[in-house]
Amino acid sequence: MQIAMIQDKIVPIAELEPAYLDRGIFFGDGVYEVVRSYNGKIFSLEEHMQRFANSLSAIEISGVDIYQILRRVLKSFDASGISNAKIYFHITRGSALRNHVCDADLEPNFFLTVTELEDDSEAKSKGIAVSTHPDWRWKRCDIKSLNLLANVLARRNAAQKGCAEAILVDEAGLITEGASSAFFAISGQTLQTAALTANILSSITRKFAIKAGKNIGLETIEKSLTLQQASGADELLIASTTNDIIPVVEFDEKLIGDGKPGKYTKLLTREFLSFTV
Ligand code: PLP
Repeated sequence: MQIAMIQDKIVPIAELEPAYLDRGIFFGDGVYEVVRSYNGKIFSLEEHMQRFANSLSAIEISGVDIYQILRRVLKSFDASGISNAKIYFHITRGSALRNHVCDADLEPNFFLTVTELEDDSEAKSKGIAVSTHPDWRWKRCDIKSLNLLANVLARRNAAQKGCAEAILVDEAGLITEGASSAFFAISGQTLQTAALTANILSSITRKFAIKAGKNIGLETIEKSLTLQQASGADELLIASTTNDIIPVVEFDEKLIGDGKPGKYTKLLTREFLSFTV
């Protein structure tokens, strides 16, 4: 008899819940999205759905009705009654006995959660410390894939150093992005962040942060930063859907500016938040 063991219990393979055979678990064979709401309104949902469709297409999961996914997102957000919500969803290639290659007609699995956003007011008002970590990720970080082990290890390393985010550094010594955020430096009147390549996720918050920067008179430079440029910048910040803009006041134990959130970061945050209402 073909069997499985879950913790201490033997289960015949035929009776196994499909979730145990999800290719997302075996291989990280799936893609995900995270959207959030501000006061009952989901922010930039269209962009997130477009990126999700791009990720699905990049890993050749076909036959997913993106409008059905959109309806599921809206239905579950509505059902949750949570006004400041984090909505996570993923699609995996499906469930089957572990084999790198699988049937083309495998049914994709969909999973979604709606949860309360964590309180990040202290991080926003005081700023956070970050530390650098080698970018160990694969060569298609533009795909929002479920394979996040390199990101998890970098974040664990940062947490062990008392830091709230890991800033990833490639083999050339250039900063790509945060483990779960886009990374920006402000020096003088310029806002600098890495250009979008296959090594970087096309962050939606990044796009709106650049727009906010332009609106407050900052010139944008899309070019990777060296460690020296980052640690010598006037201001640093990270951007992500769940936390929008967070000031960075310490970079590898070096204080940035006077160790407090900078004036342009505050202006940029205010401008960004005006997009969300
Ligand atoms: N970069 C990485 C590696 C991420 O995981 C995330 C968000 O999870 C971001 C950037 C920010 O992307 P977004 O602004 O679309 O949330």
